[in-house]
Amino acid sequence: MDCNCKIKKHKILCVEDNFENKVLLRRVLEAEGYNVIEASNGMEGFKLARQEEPDLILMDLGLPMMNGHEAATKIKGTKGLENVVVIALSGQVMKGDRERSLIAGCDGYIPTPIDVDRLPRQLEEFLHGKRERINSMEEREYLQEYTRLLVDRLEERIGISLTDELTGICNRRGFNLRLDEELSRAGRYNFGLALIMIDIDDFKQVNDHYGHLAGDLVLRELAQLFRVEKRKHELLSRYGGEEFIIILAEEDGPGAFVVAERLREKVQDHIFISYGHPIKITVSSGISYFLPNEPLGREYLICRADEALYKAKKGGKNRSVLL
Ligand code: GH3
Ligand code: MG
Ligand code: MG
Repeated sequence: MDCNCKIKKHKILCVEDNFENKVLLRRVLEAEGYNVIEASNGMEGFKLARQEEPDLILMDLGLPMMNGHEAATKIKGTKGLENVVVIALSGQVMKGDRERSLIAGCDGYIPTPIDVDRLPRQLEEFLHGKRERINSMEEREYLQEYTRLLVDRLEERIGISLTDELTGICNRRGFNLRLDEELSRAGRYNFGLALIMIDIDDFKQVNDHYGHLAGDLVLRELAQLFRVEKRKHELLSRYGGEEFIIILAEEDGPGAFVVAERLREKVQDHIFISYGHPIKITVSSGISYFLPNEPLGREYLICRADEALYKAKKGGKNRSVLL
């Protein structure tokens, strides 16, 4: 009696701002027997997803206001919606588009213009459990980029800064955000993680000798030196006044110790120039870490690094201590 396409009752939400695409999607999907609902922007898409609990969401990435990436992240982070299949639709064919959408929480990526002959089969596969994956090396790289983007947009909107004004690197708030992210990644993939807390030795004397403004320039130059010397996946922040902190994902204590010593020697050999004065400084570092399968809480990790730093100071400064 009924053609077999009519027995599909899956509900599909199309979040798409382009009118023609919307009409095209509706036509193709309804012809396949799907129940189609529509939203024109990310926020509306999120609200409708919560109300209607669709089986699958087709998410245009280039949406106004809350973009498709953000809407996907929001949906996947909402209780009850974690398992909704979200498929990104994107007309851009830039390198990394697919990875970026998976990082944001999408389960798959379909480039547009849509191939109307292939689309039904593609959706069928996702509805039957197909999920696109990203490897962990790429994940880290794109996650860092995505976090940076989100942070930029957040800063723009709410005016709270996660960037340190003097040095241009992450401030403590930004550091906390990054550490939480790296801790959850470490838990997910069974990685270890290390922290290096770095404090300038006798920095008060630099201020006393050359003035606070000269001290500021030294801080700025030191941040720049760390930035150049650290590796790409080592996340640098200014933790406080003359304290810096580096997160090293997938690193153990001895490995982090080598990094800390290398940075310490670079600082020791560097001549800082501030208002025409050549200035020499040294730094002390405290290192804490955990191994795969024994993730430690954020507070404990920071306390241990602090404790190690204290030992480095007591031991005579210009040194690194691993606890
Ligand atoms: P220690 O080796 O024990 O770390 O000695 P210290 O003098 O570096 O440490 P102390 O905690 O006694 O003093 C920190 C100094 O860092 C004092 C403070 O004026 C300076 N400082 C903190 N933030 C800034 C800043 O943003 N700019 C400048 N110029 N100085 C800062
Ligand atoms: Mg200090
Ligand atoms: Mg100090």
